Amino acid sequence: MQYYSTKREVAPVSFREAVIKGLPDDNGLYMPESIHKLPQEFFNNLRSKSLAEIGLTVAAPLVSEDIPQAELEQIISDTLNFDIPANKVKDNIYALELFHGPTLAFKDVGARFLARCLSYFSKDESQKVTVIVATSGDTGSAVAHGFLGVENVDVVILYPKGKVSYLQEKQLTTLGQNITALEIEGTFDDCQRLVKSAFLDKELNQKMKLTSANSINIARLIPQSFYYYWAQAQLSGQDLVFSVPSGNYGNLTAGLLAKKMGLAIKGFVASSNANDIVPKYLKTGNYAPTASVSTISNAMDVGNPSNFYRLQEIYGHSWDNVIKDIKGYSFTDAETKEAMKAVHDETGYVLDPHGAVGYLGLQKYLSNNKNVTGVFLETAHPSKFKDTVEEVIGTVDIPERLAKYASLEKKSKEMSADFNEFKSYLMGR
Ligand SMILES: *Cc1c(COP(=O)(O)O)cnc(C)c1O
Repeated sequence: MQYYSTKREVAPVSFREAVIKGLPDDNGLYMPESIHKLPQEFFNNLRSKSLAEIGLTVAAPLVSEDIPQAELEQIISDTLNFDIPANKVKDNIYALELFHGPTLAFKDVGARFLARCLSYFSKDESQKVTVIVATSGDTGSAVAHGFLGVENVDVVILYPKGKVSYLQEKQLTTLGQNITALEIEGTFDDCQRLVKSAFLDKELNQKMKLTSANSINIARLIPQSFYYYWAQAQLSGQDLVFSVPSGNYGNLTAGLLAKKMGLAIKGFVASSNANDIVPKYLKTGNYAPTASVSTISNAMDVGNPSNFYRLQEIYGHSWDNVIKDIKGYSFTDAETKEAMKAVHDETGYVLDPHGAVGYLGLQKYLSNNKNVTGVFLETAHPSKFKDTVEEVIGTVDIPERLAKYASLEKKSKEMSADFNEFKSYLMGR
């Protein structure tokens, strides 16, 4: 399978190159050249398949020219070493819980798969790959954990000093092994600028092999489609609609990929917070990116969603086709908190603010569409957003795999936001 750039100004590349490069030189996004339907036999027997078996069948046609079957099997079983249960919340409504991985958010799935693909591709290289990533919190920890202990790959994380939460900082700075955390005296934007400058620096790129593990890497998107099939396997015989709490629309786009590969999904709900660019587009046909606004579901505070052009490609840039499959709704913080409280009072289920937006979108959809089963993606464990959740419903338990970081020793290297200092640090590694 070759991967083309959505801007079509550069030649298509192999999966291997698309993963290593991350972004094509024309600043488009990589997409598979063709998306074929999987065999009917696979769908007929979905119920008897494991999550890893599903992953292998789905990923093989997309990557098999670059990763042999046995290696791919290993990569997938290492990636998905935790469950993704569809948990019944109430009649007709299920939460697909994507937070059972090491950092308690769905980004674990994509980050772990990408890390293992990169490790495989760098095996025969004489040079180690160095992943540099700027983070304002959660993405950095999913990426860092994804690469922890992975061979042939070093990770350097840049985070803004004093601007991430206590537990987030501990998650970034206590891993050790092949992970180094740089505490930058500056903002998140400074961290991003340093990373960008490093990629543009000729001398640095001659000395070492840098890569980005960016969230729009195609190797983060592909594994996110696995769990749509897995939901159908768990809820077989039911017509499913998925509500996806969205920011950069990677998760939703992965679901569209699953549908295009033959999974009989009835429909999608694009659920957003006040950053409602895509719901507005679905209503009017007009796509108008803006600056983002802050909300309590802050991982979805995106004003210019990076996967929008992939979504467009899947539908041949036809708004009429897009709106046949996707409905969009947006919700305020007040509505989100009300939903968290109502669901907890009624069922005992604890939503995090992102899942709550997904729940609200689903509820709205189901009020107009009967005879389908609704699944919303629960993208993070509620304890990751403890302050908001506790304000609404009282105390939440922190799972041991998050709580343990509190007692570990922080190890970071403080650095100014000056590129020359960052560069000489990298050159000296
Ligand atoms: C990243 C994230 C989202 C948004 O996912 P996209 O793929 O960017 O749309 C939603 N919820 C949580 C908890 C996230 O971390």
